[in-house]
Parts: sequence; C-alpha cells; structure tokens
Amino acid sequence: MSELSAKVGLPDGHEVDVLAVPWMASAAPTGAWWEAVATAWLGVQTAAGTPEPSGWVGLGDPDRPDLFIERIGDGTAPEVAVRRAAGSAVRAARERGAASIGFVIPPGLPDPSSAFQAAAEGLGLGDWRYDNLRDVPGLTEPPGLRVIYTGSPDVEVDHAAVDRGWILAAAQNVARELIALPGNVATPRYLADAATRLGSEHGFEVQVWGESKLREEGFGALLAVARGSVEEPQFLILDHKGAGGDPHVIVGKGVTFDAGGISIKPAAGMEDMKYDMSGAAAVIGIMVAAAALDIPQRVIGLVPATENLPSGAAVKPGDVIRGLSGKSIEVINTDAEGRLILSDALTFAQRLSPQAIVDMATLTGACVIALGHHALALMTPDDELSEELTAAGQAADERVWRLPIWPEYRKQIDSEIADIKNTGGRPAGTITAGWFLRDFVDDAVPWAHLDIAGTAWSDEARGWKSKGAVGIGVRLVHEWLRSRP
Ligand SMILES: [Zn+2]
Repeated sequence: MSELSAKVGLPDGHEVDVLAVPWMASAAPTGAWWEAVATAWLGVQTAAGTPEPSGWVGLGDPDRPDLFIERIGDGTAPEVAVRRAAGSAVRAARERGAASIGFVIPPGLPDPSSAFQAAAEGLGLGDWRYDNLRDVPGLTEPPGLRVIYTGSPDVEVDHAAVDRGWILAAAQNVARELIALPGNVATPRYLADAATRLGSEHGFEVQVWGESKLREEGFGALLAVARGSVEEPQFLILDHKGAGGDPHVIVGKGVTFDAGGISIKPAAGMEDMKYDMSGAAAVIGIMVAAAALDIPQRVIGLVPATENLPSGAAVKPGDVIRGLSGKSIEVINTDAEGRLILSDALTFAQRLSPQAIVDMATLTGACVIALGHHALALMTPDDELSEELTAAGQAADERVWRLPIWPEYRKQIDSEIADIKNTGGRPAGTITAGWFLRDFVDDAVPWAHLDIAGTAWSDEARGWKSKGAVGIGVRLVHEWLRSRP
C-alpha cells in the first residue's frame, strides 16, 4: 500500500528516488536547483525535433533524485495537464523500479487547489495494474512513497485537496479491479459480495436482492435477461446516508459477461465483454468514495447484475416481456439487454424520491462509432443537469458530449405488438438506446444517461490511464456531486 504526502518547496537531498518535473509551456520553472539541467535537456530534445520531450535525466549525484521531465500544457487546462503528467510520471517511476517519487506542482497555476487534487489523482491512478492472476517475471513493485512538492516555498499545501484526490483515485482503482476481473470470477454474486465487503469496510449500507425477491417485486426485465444463465441475477442497493435528505441516485449496468444472448455476438473480441459491468463497478467505486470522503449528500447506488448468455431458456427475439414499470417490451435483439435491466433499475430509482438520477452503462457500440474513445455520450432532457455534468467531466478529465434525444427519434422504437421495442435499428443507435431509457423515467425527474462504451477501457497507457480498465465515471460523478447543494 503506497503512501502519499505533500510538502512545501523541493526535496532537501535524497528524499525521493525520482523527481517528476512537469514543464508547462505557459509557465517556465524559476529559481529552483533543477532549472539548469531541465532547461539544458529540454533544449537538446527540442532541437532534435521531439514534439513532446519527456523522459529521464540522470543527475549522477547520489544525493539527488533522478529527474523525469514531462512537457505538458499546449492548450489543456492546467489541472488536466497536471493529472496526466503525474500519471505518466508515476508509471515511468514504477517501470524503473523506483521506491519513491516526488512530483512538483508547476508554478503560477490559476487554481492551486485543483492542481493538488489532480496531482494526487494522477499519482494514485497512473501505475495501476492488475496482476493477481499471473506471475510476471521482473515485475516491479509500485513506488511505496509518493510526495507532492509545492515547488515554491511561498505556496501552501492544500491538504484537503490532496486527501480528496488520493481517496478518489483509490476508489477508482477499486472499480478498475472489479472491471479487470474475468467473467468467471466477477459474477453477479461476486459483485454483491464485493459491495457487501466494501460497505462494511467504508461504512455504506448494502442490500442484495436475489432471484426470489426480484420475482416477488416484479423485476421482470432483469429476470428475462438472466434466464439464459445459470448465475443468479442480483440487484444491489447501496446507501450512503450523508446528512440525510432526498438522495442522488446513481445506476450502473452490471452485465458481468455479455455474449449477446440468442442474438449472439461474433467471436472476435468477445472476451472484452467481461467489461460490460463497468457502469456497475463505477457505482461501487462512487459509493466507496462517498463513504470515505463522508460527503454530505445522501447517495444511493443501484446495480442490476446478470450475465447475458444463450441457452434453451434464454429470452428470444420477438418475445414480449414486462418489467417493473408494467410496460410491455418487445425484445427485437437480445444483445440490447443493458437497457432492459436498466429499465427496471430506473423504475425502482424513482420510488426513492431522487433529487436526480444518473445512470452509467457500456450501452451501445454505436457510441464508439460516434465519439470514439475520448468522450462519454450524455443524454438528458435537462439542460441544467447537462451543464453540470459537462463541467464535472472537464474537471475530472472524463469529458462528456451531449447527444440530442428529440421526440423525432422516439418512433424508431415503436413496436407493432408492445408498448416499446428494445432496438431502433442502425441510425442513431446510441440515441435510441437513451430514448428507450427515457421512456421509463417521469419527465418531472431530473435524469441523465451516460453511455461509457467508448471510454470504459483503454487500449494503451497514457497520462493517468493505465492499459485496460479505466474506471470511468467515479471522479466525474463526485465532481458533479461536489457542485450540487
Ligand atoms: Zn449486449
């Protein structure tokens, strides 16, 4: 378990093995002992035509740490650049086998508090990896000590911001581990047990509903999806009481493996479908952070969890089912199962007199086509909620982009035989999935849907992102909660 601390100034002698120096295009470092070597090195790199000089400078002095210099900035908001720099620095330090790392906050930032939080997040996120299922020869331990330096003796440490960033990163890493675990380990039951353990560790309440309770309550859509699997579906209700009052309700899709059901997916890449519970993992991470930070708002997390597999008992294309809302749903494509289980969860969420509902789901491949891997798709009829989530996404470097859910799209999911059908064809597939969900939410309830299909995992390590599970949504939702009363 690594430790994080923060200090005024710069290291005094060999306090850390590695010192990471972010080199902002907008703010040249001044007056510090590393200036000369950093300037000289960057000059060489720039002359050689390296567009983003970053890397190691050996100082050859046993009393001084090595330097890892990274060029950041170039139009990116300072706290975003700081988080990315801290992330790649700690990853580079770990790869080098360093036992400790210092990170210097660049001078002259407009919002030092955000920079402290961002640095802590980057240092907590950048070197995350999951190796418990294999032996990796020569695998280096994570740096046990991480220190944020203010760089200048005139800048005070914002300890609250450092603590907040460190806790958020740890909570995001909890989500990442759940996402990384394969489908035969992270079953619906495993998610329920993990949430229960984390609830007693951090102090949030956990209720788990199994199949008989779900039948009794009428969660017909979740049960229909689960019919093809031998794993029992689970519905998790996670409650951080805070200072009480009406809750903010966060809903996450928990399909622990998605083969598509009878509308089975192609084999290529199907292994990635263990990630189809990334929304659920984010909800669990959000609850961990809510309890650990003891935030004032009441937050309720809901997770419908199931597998989606083909079998003789599985729901079939053309079947008409009824979920908790009582609406009849024609299942055109059994691979559009996420919206089915979410329709039950969203119906339940409205019984909790929510101040707002936000759901997160790896919902549509069309989201990846529309936005690639750099934005979450946001759909909401609520302009205020849209603005809040957009701002939170920018602060967290988990950016969202709003798509329209105009009434014109609704007719794509009109059914000939039921109240609604679960797919609207290829055009605007992300939007019609969002519209399906909207159909289950009363217009008076502030609600937003985030499609995280393009952002839930990463093919490369870059900035604060490791390769693999991203744990997207944990910090975004917390930034949003922090902006609300
Ligand atoms: Zn699916």
